[in-house]
Amino acid sequence: MVCLGCGRWDKTDLCRACGTTLVEAPDRLLDSDLLVRSCYEHGGAARRLIHAFKYRGSDRAGWLLARALVCLLPPAGVLVPLPRASWRTISYGIDPAFELARRVGSLSGLQVWKGLSPPLYKSGQAGRSRSQRDPPIFWLKSEPPATELILIDDVITTGRTLLRAQQTLAHPTRAARVVMAVTATATRD
Ligand SMILES: [Zn+2]
Repeated sequence: MVCLGCGRWDKTDLCRACGTTLVEAPDRLLDSDLLVRSCYEHGGAARRLIHAFKYRGSDRAGWLLARALVCLLPPAGVLVPLPRASWRTISYGIDPAFELARRVGSLSGLQVWKGLSPPLYKSGQAGRSRSQRDPPIFWLKSEPPATELILIDDVITTGRTLLRAQQTLAHPTRAARVVMAVTATATRD
């Protein structure tokens, strides 16, 4: 088969040389409240894996990332993928967080709740850098399950999108509670 990192023939999904470029990402605490665990720093082969998955729909890259994500999860909880803006899903034919959650769910046995509605970015934000953009606004399609929720996304940059999703799900009258978030890679914007 072909190495997902460099495209050379190899016996495994990721050759030894590409494997050495994977750097474990440190845990982060957003707003002194939301613990985010990520598999890898967003560079080297990890970045190429994400791109192969997001932009080319590579099934092998998706499973490789899902297997790494399973190691970061608590034993119980419901996975909540952060939906991509609709136009992005249409242009790339994949909603990466949901596709990761589906694989992680099947490997871990955790359920996936797909109740967050995708954000609509306001026009006029395209020219601004990611850190300058307002975080997206999510909507709830239905009441979240009354249990511990684990947000899941492909990449974390500033973390504001994860915080926005947590805010959308939080409500004093709800038993649902976001306990942590996991992402495949972590980058600094
Ligand atoms: Zn390689």
